[in-house]
Amino acid sequence: MHDGAESGVAPGTASAGDSGPRPNRAPALEVRDLKKHFPVKKGLLQKTVGHVYAVDGVSFSIREGETLGLVGESGCGKSTVGRAILRLVEPTSGSIKVSGEEITGLSKQEMRPYRREMQIIFQDPFSSLDPRMSAGDIVGEPLKVHGAGNAKERRDRVAELFARVGLRQAQMDSFPHQFSGGQRQRIGIARALALNPKLIIGDEPVSALDVSIQAQVINLLMDLQQELGLGYLFISHNLAVVEHISHYIAVMYLGRIVEYADKRTLFTSPRHPYTEALLSAVPVPDPAIKRKKVVLEGDVPSPVKPPSGCHFHTRCPIAQARCKVESPVLRDVGGGQKVSCHFR
Ligand code: SF4
Repeated sequence: MHDGAESGVAPGTASAGDSGPRPNRAPALEVRDLKKHFPVKKGLLQKTVGHVYAVDGVSFSIREGETLGLVGESGCGKSTVGRAILRLVEPTSGSIKVSGEEITGLSKQEMRPYRREMQIIFQDPFSSLDPRMSAGDIVGEPLKVHGAGNAKERRDRVAELFARVGLRQAQMDSFPHQFSGGQRQRIGIARALALNPKLIIGDEPVSALDVSIQAQVINLLMDLQQELGLGYLFISHNLAVVEHISHYIAVMYLGRIVEYADKRTLFTSPRHPYTEALLSAVPVPDPAIKRKKVVLEGDVPSPVKPPSGCHFHTRCPIAQARCKVESPVLRDVGGGQKVSCHFR
């Protein structure tokens, strides 16, 4: 079981990376000991023969105006965290609070107001946009579904959203295939903004884009955060991508958070050997700064049968006998940094 990883920065007062005093109000999102175990079924009778421990006790909070970067290799469970928060998959256990209100266990109907507050931007802007709908209809769809305004008011709101994300009003009647990848992601962002959410979950939102376009989309997201006080959960397999936008970073390995810190601390004083390995792959712009290259052996083990003790012991360059039998807790090592390792 892991302790909570909490972040705090006053909205609108800091650039990504500066931690500030915690405002005394409920976080936009508070996740406690979240678990999602998918049953593995086999045979004619579809008997449950095991579980995929996709998310296994994850805790964190996000305040309005701040970004938590959630990072880890493919298969570590980070996307499942995002989907469980939105109840796109049903959590196995744990608590999810949106603006202080518990949302686990709510019916579809009861979830409606919270769905307005939390939106998602997907990795592949092409497959997440209906090719038969015009861009304007795509952006206006959430307004229609939630019965917001009449047709004219919705059209005006869509035009406003187009301008806000850097698209031209004249493009409202074009179809997704008529846009570039970066523009399609702007449509996805406009759709996510339509209902004035407090929190946006970005599931690898720039991974499918060219590097130059990635920077434009990240800058747009940061501008929108400044302007609207949005909270972001920014999910990525790439630490370099989350570096610019995040105030805080949580590193996940096999369903658990293994390190959590504000961005500067994580990049300058990482403690967990897994974080060190991920960081060693991030290019450093200053040639005077040298990072020790850490190459991890093998792939992430299967979440169906995670290794005993510390899940990372099969790949850890400093593992000792104790690591195979004893699971480390995520403990505070000072300054808000939390690490799950017996020796760090
Ligand atoms: Fe490595 Fe052991 Fe620390 Fe796990 S607990 S990260 S295996 S040293």
